[in-house]
Amino acid sequence: LVTLAETVKGAGKTQVEDLAWRDADVRDRLRHALVKGITDYIEVDTEEARTQLSKPLDVIEGPLMDGMAVVGDLFGSGKMFLPQVVKSARVMKRAVAYLEPYMDAEKEGSGQQARGKILMATVKGDVHDIGKNIVGVVLGCNNYRVVDLGVMVPLDKILAAAVAEKADVIGLSGLITPSLDEMVSVAEEMQRRGMTTPLLIGGATTSRQHTAVKIAPKYEQTTIHVLDASRAVGVVAALLDPKQRPAQDEQNRADQARLRELHGQRRVRPMVPYDTARAKRQVCTFDATTVAAAPFIGREIFTAPVAEVARYIDWTFFFTAWELVGKFPKILTDPVVGATATELYEAAKHWLDELGRDPRVSVKGVFGFYPAASRDDDLVLYTGAPAASGASGERGASATGPKAAPESSRETIVFPMLRQQQAKENETTKIHACLADFVAPESAPVQDHVGAFAVSCLGTEALVRELEAKHDDYAAIIVKALADRLAEAAAEMLHEKVRRGWYAKVEALSNDELIAESYRGVRPAFGYPACPDHTLKGPLFELLGCAEVGITLTESFAMWPASSVSGIYLAHPEARYFNVGKIGRDQVASYAARTGVPVAEVERWLGPNLGYEA
Ligand code: SAH
Repeated sequence: LVTLAETVKGAGKTQVEDLAWRDADVRDRLRHALVKGITDYIEVDTEEARTQLSKPLDVIEGPLMDGMAVVGDLFGSGKMFLPQVVKSARVMKRAVAYLEPYMDAEKEGSGQQARGKILMATVKGDVHDIGKNIVGVVLGCNNYRVVDLGVMVPLDKILAAAVAEKADVIGLSGLITPSLDEMVSVAEEMQRRGMTTPLLIGGATTSRQHTAVKIAPKYEQTTIHVLDASRAVGVVAALLDPKQRPAQDEQNRADQARLRELHGQRRVRPMVPYDTARAKRQVCTFDATTVAAAPFIGREIFTAPVAEVARYIDWTFFFTAWELVGKFPKILTDPVVGATATELYEAAKHWLDELGRDPRVSVKGVFGFYPAASRDDDLVLYTGAPAASGASGERGASATGPKAAPESSRETIVFPMLRQQQAKENETTKIHACLADFVAPESAPVQDHVGAFAVSCLGTEALVRELEAKHDDYAAIIVKALADRLAEAAAEMLHEKVRRGWYAKVEALSNDELIAESYRGVRPAFGYPACPDHTLKGPLFELLGCAEVGITLTESFAMWPASSVSGIYLAHPEARYFNVGKIGRDQVASYAARTGVPVAEVERWLGPNLGYEA
């Protein structure tokens, strides 16, 4: 608290002192405003510079560019961080927006000499864009022209726009594993069309390895994986500099060749036959001590005020989105990034309040419970009306004790699960886990239940668009990142409510304990390592009727809005997360048979999990 008070006091003091910069020459004032991210006087100062210089364009190419060059240098040398750069970009954009009408009058257009044009898009079926937005802003403030086609952009649209815009570079972004495949298709199509534009690959699911092994070989031209926003400028600068480009290309190709070689030689831990893995299931006890009555059967709508949900936010991830590394709240007093983090946190709290007041914004979801059983590696949820009593939605289901009706005679939804198949170091004692192991089999004397949920922070798009129209990318990105946080926080909050109603009636955990998920039960998310098949979100969303609250799926099974979280609830005390890892042909064949999906299609969706070349 002392430090926070001091920081606030310190900030107040600097603000008073800061006004001395107002006495400086207009060039210095513009530079100061850009470096410090101050928008208060930007129109006044830009106007003054405009009247002093002969053309509005000279203001951009002179003092404004000079200021941004300083920002670029400070960022490049680690003395400024992303949030500050995005704030600087906001100042730059406001100044340019102010000058634009004057430039139109002089028929110059706003066509200042950009260093190059970057076309960016999140690929078809994917909705991720915070990272891409940040990269775009950073490139923009380094004087690259950025054309951002947005999210869910089909291949054809990306390539047509690249030609029409005469893009110097194409940047593809993606968050979920199916996007990896889509990126390969884009590379293939660029090759087929004989394009020469360099291709940049970025986003959470991408990797140097995947780019080297799967994407680059499809496209003869330069294909580079760019890990994060801070590296993007350097990579693009070298790419567009005829002097640096050959060396960069050579290095990149050598790195990728080496990664391919390593990939070729890698020793994938051998796989045991699927039947052997199944025999090594995790054996759990299913009785009254481990299986409890679900609070109700059927589905319910969940909604909660933003302010309440906000208490469950894991702030560490908010800072991660801005490439500020460190645990919250310690990060606020970190000697290096503390000041930036604190300023960002204050801005975030402001926007959190705004989200709470905005009638368009809501946190909503659906959750439900269903009698369930495991049938080998399948999770079977009984969704129809029970034969004996009541309709779905009825409260007070009795879960334990002898089963009332033969569940097998009822309507079901099957979620096929995958089992770890890679050999373990000590094969005799090790377990090959599968999420189905944590649900009582049909033969068990007790009736088990499985829960399901989807939550979302809805309705932030309009606010984001308003902020972007005001050239305030800083606030727009904060709002997007907060929407993600609120969705995750809602998942945590709802999970707590669910546990208390189900099997942990007296649970009382601190927020840190919640963040560490140190409670009984798990909420595996389809597309994550224990259940990597994104397509299971299809039946999950249908079961829950997610469309009713406005949460939908793209053709790649990404959730829309992007700020959404979904999964199933498993209650068993031994239920845990694990990584399925690589699976063999035998398991893929079984999975295909169980789902009724052709093997080739299963292989496409589970690409990253295949332990063999499909
Ligand atoms: N509190 C963080 C964490 C969410 S990530 C945040 O605010 O962003 C943790 C969640 O990811 C888990 O609750 C679960 O839903 C999912 N998850 C993590 N590991 C998983 C695994 N191996 N398999 C399936 N789902 C997993």
